[in-house]
Amino acid sequence: MSETTTRTVDATLPLPDALWIGGQWHPEAEGGYLELVEPATEQTLARVPAAGRGDVDRALQVAEQAFRKGDWAYRTDRADVLYRVAASIRRHAETLAQIESRNVGKPIGDARWEILAGARCFEYYAGGISRFGGETIPVAAQGFDYTLRVPVGVVACIVPWNFPFLMACWKVAPALATGNSVVLKPASLTPLTALALGFVAQEAELPGDVFQVVAGRGSEVGDYLVQHPLVRKIAFTGETSTGAHILKLAADDIKRVSLELGGKSPNIVFADADIDAAASAAPMAVFANAGQDCCARSRVLVEQSVYEAFLERFVESTRQLLVGDPAEEATQVGPLVSAAQRNRVETYLEVARQDGGRVLTGGERLDRPGYFLRPAVVDGLPSQSRVCQEEIFGPIACVMPFRDERHAIQLANDTPYGLSGSVWTRDVERALRVARAVETGVLSVNTNSSVYQEAPFGGFKQSGFGRDLGMEAMRLYTEVKNVFIAVDREGA
Ligand code: NAD
Repeated sequence: MSETTTRTVDATLPLPDALWIGGQWHPEAEGGYLELVEPATEQTLARVPAAGRGDVDRALQVAEQAFRKGDWAYRTDRADVLYRVAASIRRHAETLAQIESRNVGKPIGDARWEILAGARCFEYYAGGISRFGGETIPVAAQGFDYTLRVPVGVVACIVPWNFPFLMACWKVAPALATGNSVVLKPASLTPLTALALGFVAQEAELPGDVFQVVAGRGSEVGDYLVQHPLVRKIAFTGETSTGAHILKLAADDIKRVSLELGGKSPNIVFADADIDAAASAAPMAVFANAGQDCCARSRVLVEQSVYEAFLERFVESTRQLLVGDPAEEATQVGPLVSAAQRNRVETYLEVARQDGGRVLTGGERLDRPGYFLRPAVVDGLPSQSRVCQEEIFGPIACVMPFRDERHAIQLANDTPYGLSGSVWTRDVERALRVARAVETGVLSVNTNSSVYQEAPFGGFKQSGFGRDLGMEAMRLYTEVKNVFIAVDREGA
């Protein structure tokens, strides 16, 4: 890293200010600079170089040569290297959490959890290497048939700004575990912890040619990366519209693509549920990360007979959320990531009012610098309102009543998305029926937690395809090769 950055929170891990390509730090790049603003203060946080096309070419050529050499894919100590990466993340966890918290505006407690979850992700896939393989198949012929899981090649991992470090780990760890070379492109607003992964890689002695980090603007280098002939697979997390664009760009040379996209997830509360538990859990299920969460349960569907009772408690719990400085341990909701994102959310509040909605609490800015907005609860909107249909990616929850189980399922499925959701009920059979009928890739019953390192995560419908996490992710980064060996039965 260049000596110019002195703003450190950890003497051994400076605030990153360079691209990580070919095992070297590059403080200069062709795309100028990304000026980063701290969302909680609106002050300049850092300046990092923005990759241009030439930088992307270099990163991809290094990655391609590494893959061609085959050293990484054939190394028998890949797991050891990935465990070292995890250990390095753990060693610098507090620093990484501070950087993430300041860059995204995320409460420090959340940032700490996410960094450690990133370390655990590397540990999980390090362990997965010895458990993931092909199968032997009893084909109808004289011989022996087996499948191999071989790496795809150069993988471009493109990640968003809401969980920058964790999303990077979710993709980079399984891609490296399965023997690929990786080029990681973080979002232009939040490149710092992704760049710090370069530092971690260096400390862990991950070969410099198998992992590159190119910060840059999506419309410039993201597009270029996606179309580049050296890229064999794109692992993308971001907006549905960006995912659709990437899918088109990838079509010409049949690149492998996996897409983790937006959501508009339902939180379905039946009258027989523990209403107190559901109402006290509901605010953080949508307002965590200031609502900038693809899994945010932003449509709260409540059975008519308990609607008013639930709503009252939900609004009260929402008012009690601690909104403020992300550096404070107790803070539950920080600022939005940027002024543009806050403006976007405020526009949706306007639409809510125009569509006849009642804003029962929240929606105001805080009287301090930073892109803060108090979490808002809105009811009285028809399901077809844009506020109930589109991913707002901010602290707005729509509450809607339903008549019965059929109506609940109909409302739950009434958006183009299908990422996540929750069902609250004490009736086991109903839980089983509804869990099956709701068109989402993940679903939780009597809790809002449905994302686990060990379990597959991803969407139905316009929330994308392919699964991060669990052993499913190992499949995403491999091709299946079938090998048949003729065996002469008479030879024995
Ligand atoms: P985004 O689509 O704007 O950007 C995501 C990434 O794509 C960034 O790195 C960006 O620079 C890059 N990009 C932008 N345009 C590109 C292009 N034309 N070609 C290639 N790359 C391009 O998304 P965002 O605003 O950073 O993140 C928020 C979105 O991410 C939300 O929609 C959210 O739901 C989604 N998300 C989904 C999941 C999931 O697992 N399903 C998880 C987190 C976030």
